[in-house]
Amino acid sequence: MEKMFVPAKLTGTLQPLDLYFNRELKYLAKKMYGHAALYGNEDGRASRLVDRNNILKLQSLLHFILSAPVLQPMIEYSWILAGLLEKQVEHVNVYDVCFKFSETECQTNDCNQLAFINCSWCRTIICFHHFFQQYHVTKCVSGPYFGLDNVPNEEDDVEMDENIDDIMN
Ligand SMILES: [Zn+2]
Ligand SMILES: [Zn+2]
Repeated sequence: MEKMFVPAKLTGTLQPLDLYFNRELKYLAKKMYGHAALYGNEDGRASRLVDRNNILKLQSLLHFILSAPVLQPMIEYSWILAGLLEKQVEHVNVYDVCFKFSETECQTNDCNQLAFINCSWCRTIICFHHFFQQYHVTKCVSGPYFGLDNVPNEEDDVEMDENIDDIMN
């Protein structure tokens, strides 16, 4: 590992994560909130994903997706943009890796729900149910947490709310 220091007084203008990564993080979070608001949970209710359990789950899924090796060049790209890393990386983003597909159905056996995301670890296209409700972090055979069982439990105690914009703005 190579240690690097940001020169004094430049941190404000050179924040690598602000330059690129945070936009991608927000894009992914919006995809999840947006899907939940549009299609809701299994019972079809719109969901804001605002109860504590769902927020923890969402954070954990965001971290899981963004920490995959396939997205490492994207993180490095933030540092390159900030002028803190000199390197050529192939530029990929969350859309390329997770949402650019033409399949319409979940690829999980016996599931025909609407495809939501291409997992950055196992490269399987799955529906929101298998991604979020079923907590793909511990179901993903290619991920580092496969089979762990201390996970947020299944309580779809979600609130109805039209003001989804409040969260993301
Ligand atoms: Zn996966
Ligand atoms: Zn599914």
